[in-house]
Amino acid sequence: MINGEKWFASNFPYAAFVIAMVITNPDVPVPRGSSMLLIPAGTDGMEEIRITGLGAEPLGEGAHGYIRFRDCRVPADSLLGDEGGGFNLAQQRLGGGRLHHAMRAIGRLKRAFDMMCEFATSRSTQGAPLGKKQAVPQSIADSWIQIEQFRMQVLHAAWICDQGGYDAGRRYISAVKAALPAVVTDVVYRAMHLHGALGVSNEMPFVSLWLQGPVMATVDGGTEIHKDVLAPSSQRLPTIRGKLPVATPSRAGCRRKGPNSGQYSTASTRSARTKRLSTAVGHANQVHETGIPTLPRK
Ligand SMILES: Cc1cc2nc3c(=O)[nH]c(=O)nc-3n(C[C@H](O)[C@H](O)[C@H](O)COP(=O)(O)OP(=O)(O)OC[C@H]3O[C@@H](n4cnc5c(N)ncnc54)[C@H](O)[C@@H]3O)c2cc1C
Repeated sequence: MINGEKWFASNFPYAAFVIAMVITNPDVPVPRGSSMLLIPAGTDGMEEIRITGLGAEPLGEGAHGYIRFRDCRVPADSLLGDEGGGFNLAQQRLGGGRLHHAMRAIGRLKRAFDMMCEFATSRSTQGAPLGKKQAVPQSIADSWIQIEQFRMQVLHAAWICDQGGYDAGRRYISAVKAALPAVVTDVVYRAMHLHGALGVSNEMPFVSLWLQGPVMATVDGGTEIHKDVLAPSSQRLPTIRGKLPVATPSRAGCRRKGPNSGQYSTASTRSARTKRLSTAVGHANQVHETGIPTLPRK
């Protein structure tokens, strides 16, 4: 028997069934005490309070259900997976979903960026195309840099998941999730602003693209929650895995010509230089492994 309410159940108005995450054991922490139940639409005791939409959608319209369960009985075979295994199931599904959200966002950003570049060359004002004004190439460059950084971050997180599964990639996925809203709002805002009135009009996609930023900051858990996964206040900062390759000084570099030739060529200087380099790389590895370098205690 289920009692409770759920806000923002996506696609509830069209769904043939819902998957409800419920507490089945209140005596253990939520990650071990929650289970998933499959409940057909129209089951007695599951009622719609109202439908909610996003942004400028008219009040009362939208795809997200506010639902209430009141003494809603479901048979035991409604259970998906194991009792108490709901949280794990959700994380497995949401992990990949969050990466896919990010990948789709990159596609949208690319679209906004392409439109920005096209407008910068096609619109002229005060005697020159927008792209020739100093601020515009700066704005385009900032956008390209942000998209490229984010694209690499998403690729890396996906690679980690490919190597070690979603458990290994959990923090990387949370980092992607936390980074996404700012990239979207920054880049889309620049593209929208460059288009002037056209940019904020309903003839362009920018307003709805921009809204994806704040929406994605909330969907699947707020940004702060994901930053907490990344750097929980109770633990050390996250580690970055993988060692830097240990470089050795090249012999060619030791044979410089000219008055100072041979200054690196003695065995002792060479080994000192090798040692310095190895120590630097070792330190970098240490920094990478521990997250942040620790200052020596006085
Ligand atoms: C478009 C959309 C679709 C959705 N679809 C679904 C769905 O299909 N199924 C479903 O179950 N849910 C769905 N949700 C709900 C979504 O998962 C929640 O909205 C989200 O987890 C945030 O919960 P909340 O809205 O209750 O905000 P709250 O938890 O009340 O958070 C309010 C604010 O406080 C911040 N905050 C929260 N905790 C902390 C903290 N510890 N420290 C600092 N700040 C904090 C949040 O980031 C946010 O800014 C959807 C939401 C949206 C917007």
